[in-house]
Amino acid sequence: MENKIDLNNVQVAFKYKSNSDLKKAIFIYNLLQKPLIVKSLTKLTNLVLKYKLPFKYFIRKTVFEIFCAGENRKKARLTMNHLKQHHVHTVLDYVAEGDKSDISYERNLETILENIQFVSQENKESFVGVKLSGLEDVDFIESVNMESISSDLAKQKRIADFIYKVDEICQLALEKGVKVYFDAEERRTQDVYDFIVEKMMVKYNAESVIVYNTLQMYMKDRITYLRNIIENAKETNTKLGVKLVRGAYVEKEREYAKFKGVESPVFENKEYTDKAFNEAVEICLIEHEIINTCLATHNQLSVEKAIELIQKLKIEDHYNKVYFSQLFGMSDNLTFNLAQGRYNASKYVPYGEVEKAIPYLLRRAEENSSIEGQVSREYELLVEERKRRML
Ligand SMILES: Cc1cc2nc3c(=O)[nH]c(=O)nc-3n(C[C@H](O)[C@H](O)[C@H](O)COP(=O)(O)OP(=O)(O)OC[C@H]3O[C@@H](n4cnc5c(N)ncnc54)[C@H](O)[C@@H]3O)c2cc1C
Repeated sequence: MENKIDLNNVQVAFKYKSNSDLKKAIFIYNLLQKPLIVKSLTKLTNLVLKYKLPFKYFIRKTVFEIFCAGENRKKARLTMNHLKQHHVHTVLDYVAEGDKSDISYERNLETILENIQFVSQENKESFVGVKLSGLEDVDFIESVNMESISSDLAKQKRIADFIYKVDEICQLALEKGVKVYFDAEERRTQDVYDFIVEKMMVKYNAESVIVYNTLQMYMKDRITYLRNIIENAKETNTKLGVKLVRGAYVEKEREYAKFKGVESPVFENKEYTDKAFNEAVEICLIEHEIINTCLATHNQLSVEKAIELIQKLKIEDHYNKVYFSQLFGMSDNLTFNLAQGRYNASKYVPYGEVEKAIPYLLRRAEENSSIEGQVSREYELLVEERKRRML
């Protein structure tokens, strides 16, 4: 089952980019390499948000175009079709963060349900991403203890409504045969989200794996958590969907733990996170009979290790059990070379109004400027392709 692929083949990686797209990406990644520029951009963007300044056009033409597929589903469809031509699937993700109102929670639910319908018509092998923080207030979720909620009737009703929304999403996903990834967010809400998504897996993953939970492996408790859900799945005869990430909120988690006067839930350094991520991949792949795994990462070493393991464990039907996913605008070398090598590869394709995508864009800009080597690696590959095209 030896299947050697070159994850650094830039011709394959950027074949979907036109010359002008390539030049634009080089320009933006060059900017992102300069921490001072990213800091200024972050400040400017926060001001735009706070005072509703008219810089939408500037943001749309720079980071938005690199990291988002467009402002609406119609635009996202173009990207989806483009990716499909290169055997890359889509994880369609409506980005609307930070809007805390009942109206926005209802609208977000509607959008997610529409996305499931849409994906089922466009490409059944694609996925829909869901952020549960878009469906209910995170401060309320934090205040809930699923084990001892029964005495508070108002709370009981509100959490039941929330569970009903999640159930509606999973029910439609099952009907349409579309897989759903529940993203992981802040640690303070994760226990409640885990509790609910686990129940959904028991209910909806009987025939095939429709519901996926996300595990942030920078959390000190996740290996134990993973082992526990595997044990429970074996007892209840359930199939698990696990999306593995390292985690996107290191600083936020540390600050929140400090504010609360508790130990940070996140590992002290990246080496521990890397070790936990790779260990989780190994655990999941060994258990491939009951777990479908998504490696959501830009880390080439983790991807290479997973490929080695797939071959060592002789997971013949890995295309249906092990997925690789990268964010739109990042690590095309992994996505497109994996797809060309007949691995199941997808892109997280975020779309939404520019203003609502700003928190997402800031995370990408900061992540790219702070991760050692990531942005320069991205930049080097793009420049290599420009040279190859003799532009
Ligand atoms: C398809 C996809 C879906 C995603 N979905 C989610 C999601 O649902 N929830 C979520 O939180 N994130 C999500 N992410 C983002 C992800 O968690 C990472 O932030 C991002 O992918 C960078 O990690 P990496 O594995 O790609 O690469 P790397 O560059 O190897 O790792 C960077 C990561 O290492 C960790 N790290 C860095 N420094 C330290 C330190 N000092 N101490 C401890 N850990 C450290 C952090 O997690 C950091 O993000 C997603 C990413 C992808 C590609």
